Amino acid sequence: MKDDKVIRVFDLAGVVQGVGLRPTVYLLAEKAGLCGWVQNRTGVVRLRLEGEARAIDAFMRRLPGALPPNARLDTVSEIESDALPEGAGASDFKILPSVLSGRPTVVIPADLAICTDCRAEIQDPCNRRYGYPFTTCTRCGPRYTVVESMPYDRDRTTLSAFPLCPACRAEYENPRDRRFHAESTACPRCGPRLSLLDMQGVAVEGDPLRVARQTLAQGGAVGVRGIGGFLLAANAFDREALRKLRERKRRPHKPFAVMAADMATVRRYCAVPSAAEALLISPEAPIVILDVLPEAVSGARLPLDLLTPDAPTLGVMLPTSPLHLFLLTPLAGDPVPAFELLVMTSGNRGGEPICLTNAEAVDRLGGIADLLLCHDREINLRADDSLAVIQHGAPQLWRRARGYAPNAILLARPLRRCVLAMGAELKNTVAVGFEDRVVVSPHVGDLETPEALDGLERVARALPQFLERRAEAVAVDLHPDMHATVLGRRIAAERGVPVVEVQHHYAHAAAAFAEHGEEAGLALVMDGTGLGTDGAVWGAELFAVDPAGYRRLATFAPVPLPGGDAAVRRPARQVVARWVAAGVELTDGRLRRLGVTPEEGAVWRQQCLRQLNAPLTHAAGRVFDAFSALLGLAPETVTYEGQSAIRLEAAARRSSRRDVPHLPFSQSEKDGMLVIDWAESFALLADERLTAGRACDWAYGEHSSVADAALAMIEYGLSSGNACPVALSGGVFMNRILTDLVAQRLEAQGVRVLLHRRIPPNDGCIALGQAVVAGNRRT
Ligand SMILES: [Zn+2]
Ligand SMILES: [Zn+2]
Repeated sequence: MKDDKVIRVFDLAGVVQGVGLRPTVYLLAEKAGLCGWVQNRTGVVRLRLEGEARAIDAFMRRLPGALPPNARLDTVSEIESDALPEGAGASDFKILPSVLSGRPTVVIPADLAICTDCRAEIQDPCNRRYGYPFTTCTRCGPRYTVVESMPYDRDRTTLSAFPLCPACRAEYENPRDRRFHAESTACPRCGPRLSLLDMQGVAVEGDPLRVARQTLAQGGAVGVRGIGGFLLAANAFDREALRKLRERKRRPHKPFAVMAADMATVRRYCAVPSAAEALLISPEAPIVILDVLPEAVSGARLPLDLLTPDAPTLGVMLPTSPLHLFLLTPLAGDPVPAFELLVMTSGNRGGEPICLTNAEAVDRLGGIADLLLCHDREINLRADDSLAVIQHGAPQLWRRARGYAPNAILLARPLRRCVLAMGAELKNTVAVGFEDRVVVSPHVGDLETPEALDGLERVARALPQFLERRAEAVAVDLHPDMHATVLGRRIAAERGVPVVEVQHHYAHAAAAFAEHGEEAGLALVMDGTGLGTDGAVWGAELFAVDPAGYRRLATFAPVPLPGGDAAVRRPARQVVARWVAAGVELTDGRLRRLGVTPEEGAVWRQQCLRQLNAPLTHAAGRVFDAFSALLGLAPETVTYEGQSAIRLEAAARRSSRRDVPHLPFSQSEKDGMLVIDWAESFALLADERLTAGRACDWAYGEHSSVADAALAMIEYGLSSGNACPVALSGGVFMNRILTDLVAQRLEAQGVRVLLHRRIPPNDGCIALGQAVVAGNRRT
């Protein structure tokens, strides 16, 4: 008996455009003997199937398992279902041209690293794309960074400046080809080209790639225009080149990331757990922070003191674009041998965002780079390299950008309204929350320079526009002077929509829950800076969170920060403040140990006692700073955020972990809150003899004691009847020793622990949290 024929129409949503979904559907439908069509619409792919009901059922069952590698189906909605009249219907299956339709859920595809097929082509001398640095297909290449408007089609990308040649057009129009509707496809005949500029912006003679490689081999620094902006490249084994690069970038200590030619090279220098390898070779291809092998530390060949002076970890990535691949590995006839590792650090002056255009690079990388390897594939929006680490056994993003952003974070429950969230001052991201999702922008960065503020404004305006959403509220931090807050208020005023202030650590907590599809539980947020509702700086906060809001259950006792930010930059000031708070006498000997003069000590003491420019801070990050300084590990002046804590963690890693010394803290209840006070420890360690020669053990002791304190806080929260799960958020939980200690002990007690995975634990998560909090409010 023959089945009756039916028509069924579906909307497929998720990551469905720019990933080769339509040709996959086309081939599947053809194989199943189904007629109809498939079409890109704004935000969804519409699929009309005509044929036997059973065959259509089978097709729809098979589809989720047959998706191309980078596609993701979030929802399949049936739009229509009807009997197909005898003799009616289509005679074949077609891919229809894209249409723009109303009320979409637009998904902007993220940029992806070069795929294995493209990689094979560009290394095959017989292929027409041999050696072509802008080779892409539906599975790889730039997307977000070249999109000018949605839907994602070549006409609306910066590639529209390059009309396809007949060969490329044939691929683009052939549903059986990997480049069918590959919107950024190109070839040497019709696509973008490399160029080489000197620092005056004048074109340099010769083959750009070869000259650039030769410059690297001779110890030069080359600004390389990548997928989402400029990087600075140098030979990672060349001490002189690295020294020069650090000096020119005025970046004395902050680690440099490296790009390795292949996995074998990575393994030669670093321990690579399988989860880390999976990340490195994924299409997202982030920089992964790996532990350097002990033999690579002792062998002098790799200059770790210049690559990563503060900790024996190295940020490593594999080539993400054909251009990077060609920089590492020579093409035929190039006499400069392959580089094992190249430093690839952000192409910026300290604090600024990475350069996007060739002109910007000439202007801003002068005095840093020796040459610029440029091209004419314009970058519309910036995307830095993403940064990940293996945290408590699984990947955790520390910087979410290329490859991950702007993929949506799906929520457990739809938001009540559409929100533009402006994020924090450091590691800024912005977000648009609407319906059941929040779209977080790629890492915008620290808002310290006019260039960074321009970058913020550009993304804050472009993102809602791409998503075709109008914000009904703007979420900002409580701190009135933050640049993101000021801009958010301006945008809200322009649009006549309300501003919602969200406390910094509450935003951390909300982000941690949202990422896991949760709404309620305990959240321990350990952080550096963030204004509390009482005007003090918070940052060691245990909250009970539910959809209605939060209650503050526990914190660290506040201490003055003499000089405010100056005390963050010079951690010895914090030790003096801790000693003053603990009633320890500031003897010349004690001050000398910190590199502090008696005069400085006296001034800071007065600041603390009289509360002159000495804001109170509860932050856990400051406990790490102060102990690091007390143990002689912190630098005299910090040159990048978190440096003192990073040195303390590195020292703890060197500890034998036997007879771990305990750092005492007191617990008291005040105004219904548990307060942890570290004064006893600072008083104890005022005696230099205790720590002499044992800094590493004390460093580990500090981690283990802060974990004890964290557990005490969480137990206090659990005992007052608050339910699991427990989320850990804040920059301090980037610390792998602390996170392991706290998470292991909670898990051993059967507590479900939520760690950040897809969104950073640092301030990169603030925009997500703000969007969720403000989006759930009615007013
Ligand atoms: Zn490809
Ligand atoms: Zn072409």
